[in-house]
Amino acid sequence: NFAILNGNIIERSEAKVDVEDRGYQFGDGVYEVIRVYNGKMFTVNEHLNRFEKSLNSIGITLPCTKEHLTGLLEELIAKNNLKLGTIYMQITRGVAPRNHAFPAENITPSLVAYTKEVDRPLESLKAGVRTIVTEDIRWLRCDIKSLNLLGNLLAKQKATVEGCFEAIQHRSEEVTEGSSSNIFVVKNGVVSTHQSDNLILKGITKDVILQVCTNNNIVVEERAFTLEELANADEVFLSSTTAEVIPIIEVDRKPVADGLPGSITRKLQELFEQEIEKQCGT
Ligand code: PMP
Repeated sequence: NFAILNGNIIERSEAKVDVEDRGYQFGDGVYEVIRVYNGKMFTVNEHLNRFEKSLNSIGITLPCTKEHLTGLLEELIAKNNLKLGTIYMQITRGVAPRNHAFPAENITPSLVAYTKEVDRPLESLKAGVRTIVTEDIRWLRCDIKSLNLLGNLLAKQKATVEGCFEAIQHRSEEVTEGSSSNIFVVKNGVVSTHQSDNLILKGITKDVILQVCTNNNIVVEERAFTLEELANADEVFLSSTTAEVIPIIEVDRKPVADGLPGSITRKLQELFEQEIEKQCGT
């Protein structure tokens, strides 16, 4: 099994970073997770664009071109013979003596990427999942896909302890997003999800869903909906790279509508699969 370390593909067991890497000490870096279906990356350009945007927002320059990086990732997939799974990729500011301020000299960013075999979450896609609601205690730049995930981890752990798949976060009355997913509600045929501002991550899956809605005359709007709207929704679902489109059938121990995945959610699952098929030909 191989991994990418700073532009080279090497044995994963040889891929080591220094104890003073700023990612390790400060979470001073950003990451991406890309889905691989049928040995091909899904929405790779969108992921690399977001990666570069996250990097630039913390003052790091992508150490190579996106085209070069794409080629490197393709090579990694081939060498690891990955058919169905994910690529995890991160860049940190690099290695420097520990000090909060950015290093004065230009240091080389550390790039790491590796692959993992991951099945599609077939059971959850079919039956739906349970969720809890929890206060969003994170910072105000959730649009950056930062390595600092403590707020997200605490939320997810709370859900896990309660036997739930995801924690739906809110700031006062407004629902923001899941701990590792975007959240959608459907009411009277209208799909709503939080606008892509500084309070949420602009999900690549979310954007595919918005596009698919528009192309198929499903009414969709980006706006912050409330906890009350969440509680009274006809349908609720979540989206992420690894989860795709998963129905939410319970929020804080209360069933969503009749407690079964809704028809628009089902339709979007079907349309999302068609997008996978188009790009990756599974
Ligand atoms: N929000 C957060 C906080 C996430 O961690 C994720 C998963 N990366 C998402 C939303 C969904 O984003 P995407 O569809 O790009 O995976």
